[in-house]
Amino acid sequence: MKITVIGTGYVGLVTGTCLAEAGNDVLCIDIDKVKVAKMQQGLLPIYEPHLQTYFNRNIKSGRLHFSTNIEEGVHHGEVIFLALPTPEDEDGSADLSYVLGVANQIGELMKDYKIVVSKSTVPVGTGERVKAALKAKTDVSFDVVSNPEFLREGFAVEDFMKPDRIVVGVESERAKNAMEKLYKTFVRTGNPIVFMDIKSAELTKYAANAFLATKITYMNEIANYCEKVGANVDDVRMGMGLDERIGKRFLFPGIGYGGSCFPKDVKALHKSGKDAAHYFAILDSVIKVNEQQKTVLFPKMQQHFEGNLKNKKIAVWGLAFKPDTDDIREAPALYMINKLLDAGASVTAFDPEAMDNVKTKLGDSISFASSMISAVKDADALLICTEWHAFRNPNFHNLKTALKRNVIFDGRNIYNPKDMTALGFDYYSIGR
Ligand code: NAD
Repeated sequence: MKITVIGTGYVGLVTGTCLAEAGNDVLCIDIDKVKVAKMQQGLLPIYEPHLQTYFNRNIKSGRLHFSTNIEEGVHHGEVIFLALPTPEDEDGSADLSYVLGVANQIGELMKDYKIVVSKSTVPVGTGERVKAALKAKTDVSFDVVSNPEFLREGFAVEDFMKPDRIVVGVESERAKNAMEKLYKTFVRTGNPIVFMDIKSAELTKYAANAFLATKITYMNEIANYCEKVGANVDDVRMGMGLDERIGKRFLFPGIGYGGSCFPKDVKALHKSGKDAAHYFAILDSVIKVNEQQKTVLFPKMQQHFEGNLKNKKIAVWGLAFKPDTDDIREAPALYMINKLLDAGASVTAFDPEAMDNVKTKLGDSISFASSMISAVKDADALLICTEWHAFRNPNFHNLKTALKRNVIFDGRNIYNPKDMTALGFDYYSIGR
């Protein structure tokens, strides 16, 4: 099929590349000229495991193209995916200006039947608004579809190629058949394409993300309570997670959830509820507790240094909001770095993929190291903010030699406290 993807970021690029891999003729449109020029030269603008191989193969085969020309994009695809940003607006709602702006453009430019599919995470009722925007500009027939994306950064290609489920909100048989034809190659093992109405599909995405954020937040509260009563959250987590009704995943406490989705999606669902006179009491707490959770490690650092972090050199391992991505949107590391700088400390950071993005954001207010070990050289303490695999089993002897003082603040609980004490570290973590 001929497909257009408008918005070629983390979701759009993975969607476009994977649809090309399945044999479709895909044109990806983006407003960012630098990004498009890079992709036209065969360079990936983001880090995502396995994407490079698929990207190279499909560019070579002529099935994957890039352009900044929206007119070309609208004419190319029978199916047009919107993978545009829906960032948090000032009042917590999702900013729909990108989605509705592009819907207007499509309405102005389309000359024949189109299926306009939202992959962006959008509040209930956005499908109606996209439909109205198109109708206001064109008499040509079209269908609007909601197809929320559930891929996880770090596993995006795997998730797209082998999804647990594909959620599709449709209103016509024609659109339903087209989506089924497009997606059936991705669910050959029998995982379902779940068809539903558009509003339910829109809500499914928010309901899923808010549930996962709630699960993490609940565990963070349990961890904080563990610290007060002398329990060990690792044991509690295992004891809970082995109950199949609960499950072992998403029970890891830390310094709060971050990233490009959970923070904004929880707030947007909370705000949508408010607009419909529905008070999401649970989400209200989740938002508050997560804000507090970002702050729990910093007082431990202050206490260790007896309130004086001035001129202390702190090494930070991990800047991305989670491992296997270069995405730093709402990354807890940024909160911690700002607190440290405000307290007069200096920071040297290392991350396998996210340093360029942080350089763009923080400039030379911090230093960047070329390796884990060079980051900790002569540091007064090591702070771990992202659980990259490479950080899990370092050479502790070298670490001790490089550090000025043997102090580790671990925001991701990646080491065993007993082992760390035996190795001679002052070790601080969450809920243990
Ligand atoms: P992103 O910021 O990485 O990418 C968005 C892209 O859209 C950017 O490249 C930007 O230049 C481009 N763009 C902006 N305005 C444009 C316009 N008028 N025309 C063409 N291109 C334009 O965002 P993302 O992380 O890919 O997220 C996109 C949507 O998918 C959001 O609604 C998000 O909530 C949702 N989502 C994201 C993830 C994720 O893990 N990142 C997962 C599931 C769903």
